[in-house]
Amino acid sequence: MADRHVLGLSGGKDSAALAVFMRQYHPELDIEYFFTDTGKELPEVHEFLGRLEGYLGKPIIRLNPRRDFDFWLREYNHYLPSPQTRWCTKQLKLVPFEQWIRPMLAAGDSVTSYVAIRADEEYREGYASKQKNLFVKLPFRESGIDKAGVTEILESSGVGYPKYYEWRSRSGCTFCFFQQKIEWVRLKERHPKAFEEAKALEKDAIEHGSPFTWSDRESLSELERPERMAQIVGSYEVRKARLRASIPINPLRPARPNHEDIDDVYGDDEGGGSCLICHK
Ligand code: SF4
Repeated sequence: MADRHVLGLSGGKDSAALAVFMRQYHPELDIEYFFTDTGKELPEVHEFLGRLEGYLGKPIIRLNPRRDFDFWLREYNHYLPSPQTRWCTKQLKLVPFEQWIRPMLAAGDSVTSYVAIRADEEYREGYASKQKNLFVKLPFRESGIDKAGVTEILESSGVGYPKYYEWRSRSGCTFCFFQQKIEWVRLKERHPKAFEEAKALEKDAIEHGSPFTWSDRESLSELERPERMAQIVGSYEVRKARLRASIPINPLRPARPNHEDIDDVYGDDEGGGSCLICHK
């Protein structure tokens, strides 16, 4: 029987900062870092994980689901996953994690899982353990580390932000339905093949009677019309300018962050309640 320590990386900033934090403050723990790869991740996520491995000085274990997204899409009658029916997170993220730790728990090992819920996220719940020898710890909440603290950890360690933060606020699948309309526009600009793949999946789902489109109330074919994209970009720029004008100038911080925080621009209007497992 052993004490095992595991930390799941989503490819996002919070879990990466937590890995850095644990390496800095708990070097005595032999933490196993893992990433559950849906096979539909942005290339920037893989680049960022490589950078993080360099800092941590150890490999990040890749967990792959036995069956891919396309298999599960067929199983779910071609219905796209959605915030109401999030079968993708269950089949592509949770099940592979549970399959990985099952032999550890069966052997009687004690497994502690570290989760990156920040001190300013009181409303968030961690993964609820159903096993008596699986423990969940929230080090950021215990240490009072909030969003600014996460930025500080990533910048001061030299790990920095994932590159996709220049245009997108979340890690996860290229076609994640939690993304905001401006992020779909940018996916089309930066990764046109991934956009086309999402469009094809959506077309197939609609033909099979799926009630869901990837983006709320419009299909990607509608969203990609030039006039609609211009409207989305325009309204995003207006909101961003309004947000920036409302932020008091702090001489101790740069006037502009070196990455855009799309979530701050939209608040919970779009993409709110995004997935803790995929996006932290
Ligand atoms: S990133 Fe989005 S689409 Fe992918 S598994 Fe998570 S919730 Fe589902």
